[in-house]
Amino acid sequence: MRYSIPRFWRERLNYYRLKAAKCLDCGRVLYPYTSVCRVCGSRNVVEVELINEKARLLTYTVIYTAGEGFEQKRPVVIGIVETLESKARILARITDVDIEELKTGIILEPVLRRAGEDGETGLIHYLIMYRPVLEKAGS
Ligand SMILES: [Zn+2]
Repeated sequence: MRYSIPRFWRERLNYYRLKAAKCLDCGRVLYPYTSVCRVCGSRNVVEVELINEKARLLTYTVIYTAGEGFEQKRPVVIGIVETLESKARILARITDVDIEELKTGIILEPVLRRAGEDGETGLIHYLIMYRPVLEKAGS
């Protein structure tokens, strides 16, 4: 994964806010943002942000053979989450979770995490990942 700095700068708010499209005809919320609804084909869509929504883990896979540059972080967990209110589905890294405690249905929240570094440009990449919502003691 390599981005030019200008492209990354232009698109950073989309990454960091989880910009999505809400279709005003069929009501679906689609991530990433699209100007045409992938469900009904309507162009009647508005921008919404999913960054403040918690999400439920629908399915996941654990990758033990991480690629070059990710050796320190394995295993890598990739999941499909569904936001609780918008019901948008997002493919994302799952972080801060014990593999033994990983199961579908757990509630997650988005968090900005350092994902890697481009050796050529020195650009540090951050990604929105999802982590389990910590249960507060006594609540
Ligand atoms: Zn639609």
